[in-house]
Amino acid sequence: MDRWQTDVLVVGAGVAGLCAALAAAPRRVLVLCPDEPARTSSSALAQGGIAAPIGPGDSVESHVGDTLDVACHSADPEAVGRLISGAGDALEFLEASGVKFDRAGNRRSLHLEAGHRFARVAHVAGDRSGEAIVAALWSCVSAAPHVEVRIGWRAVELIAASGVGVVGARVIDGRGHPAVIHARETVLATGGIGRLYRHTTNGEYATGDGLAMALALGARTAALEFVQFHPTALRVDADPLPLLTEALRGAGARLITARGTLVMAGHHVLGDLAPRDVVARAVWEHAQAGEEVLLDATAVFASDKARAFPGAHRTALFYGIDPAVAPLPVTAAAHYHMGGVVVDASGRTSIPGLWACGEVAYTGLHGANRLASNSLLEAVVCGQAVGTAIAVAKFKSRPAAAAPKVEALAAVGMDARWARLRDRMWHAMGPVRDAATLGTALAATLTELEELRPEDVLLHHRFTLVAAMIGAAARREESRGAHWRSDFPLRDPSRDGPRAVYSRRPTPTERRSGVA
Ligand SMILES: Cc1cc2nc3c(=O)[nH]c(=O)nc-3n(C[C@H](O)[C@H](O)[C@H](O)COP(=O)(O)OP(=O)(O)OC[C@H]3O[C@@H](n4cnc5c(N)ncnc54)[C@H](O)[C@@H]3O)c2cc1C
Repeated sequence: MDRWQTDVLVVGAGVAGLCAALAAAPRRVLVLCPDEPARTSSSALAQGGIAAPIGPGDSVESHVGDTLDVACHSADPEAVGRLISGAGDALEFLEASGVKFDRAGNRRSLHLEAGHRFARVAHVAGDRSGEAIVAALWSCVSAAPHVEVRIGWRAVELIAASGVGVVGARVIDGRGHPAVIHARETVLATGGIGRLYRHTTNGEYATGDGLAMALALGARTAALEFVQFHPTALRVDADPLPLLTEALRGAGARLITARGTLVMAGHHVLGDLAPRDVVARAVWEHAQAGEEVLLDATAVFASDKARAFPGAHRTALFYGIDPAVAPLPVTAAAHYHMGGVVVDASGRTSIPGLWACGEVAYTGLHGANRLASNSLLEAVVCGQAVGTAIAVAKFKSRPAAAAPKVEALAAVGMDARWARLRDRMWHAMGPVRDAATLGTALAATLTELEELRPEDVLLHHRFTLVAAMIGAAARREESRGAHWRSDFPLRDPSRDGPRAVYSRRPTPTERRSGVA
């Protein structure tokens, strides 16, 4: 078995991982990326852009206020203040890295999105912001002498030494062989968990590997039950599902049923422009009742407004629908995970030698709900914070990595258990949840978990993570932000505050009843 050595191992090559790698100079950094860069990350899929309070009349305080409002009394005001204060510098850094923000005259053009009181979302190349940002960061990383990228490599397990902490990771190399990378510091930048759901906007690698690996070591986690659903993914035979931006509804598109009734009528005063979680719930409930939900954007695409949505237009035509003529079939879809591995301001986890940044981390910025376009910002600011802290940290001597437990690794691929797990998450952990469904789903997950073979390491991660997420949702007997319980439809004010989203350990009674 091959063994490698580096100062810093960065697992994941989205915006967070790339920013961390660049900032860690002069440390030697090894970045793992499981596939071709443009195909592997949510970062590359981001359409809207990156939020920053830099427009006329806007302020850090206003952006902080909007973030806290959307987070439903659960975000950490200190962390929110710190991250938003870094937004201006983050944009400067991206520009210095070659990102060309769209401009109106000599200013960056800024767009209004749901939940923001000011136009503050900066775009690149219209609705291809993520792709352009990732491409620019890749050029920088490719030119950086301290960074080496291993494409086609995937981490499967963290290696920890007793009393020392994390000392590297067990990986599958580009030829599909197991290998060990010994590192003084290990950074998780593995993104989100959307792929655990049947319907998602997230790409193939958003399977929560990093979060599961951290959970396996007992790292502190928070907000695991909080998953943001996007209300309008195009319902076609594709995985991931293409996203139809909220801006379409902003431009006049309406959600309707196949019978022509308005989906959002009676749900919220803002109708189709209600908060994302409210719209996602309405779409989900109609679908559960057997009604087809469509986004009627014919008026938008038959007018001049169509010019603002070239990506959506192309996508619809690709799937054989002319959006100027026919409404688009939509579904809610898992989109963003607010929960993650708890980190401090520098990205340190509760385990020595282990750091996290980006969607896999819980910084306190999002609480129970994410404000649109705050996540790319978090990925840049926290990625840089991790890299900078590692660059100046005094390296501890860490022992050589222990031999990995299992040589062989079963591929997950089309495994029927994996398909069942994704269906189960969709039905039990979707936009509307209840105790009975969660209990049944948890029991089935725990039973199948026990039946896994030692070589099913990747499946084991996913089953364990799903069990932890369902357990957290079952224990949260209230509705808050993206977590909606039909049997507990009100927010429990006694659970307000940033620490109330920290995952608590199950009580003995909960453990006995399976809610563990
Ligand atoms: C369709 C879509 C549109 C979005 N639009 C916006 C937007 O407009 N604005 C905004 O702020 N946010 C948006 N988001 C959310 C945002 O893109 C993500 O939250 C953010 O990019 C996360 O960055 P990241 O670096 O943490 O993770 P990612 O960009 O997902 O990168 C994770 C990396 O880790 C790799 N990885 C995973 N597992 C392993 C493993 N085991 N070993 C090695 N590598 C691994 C992945 O392949 C990938 O390279 C959008 C998300 C989606 C899906």
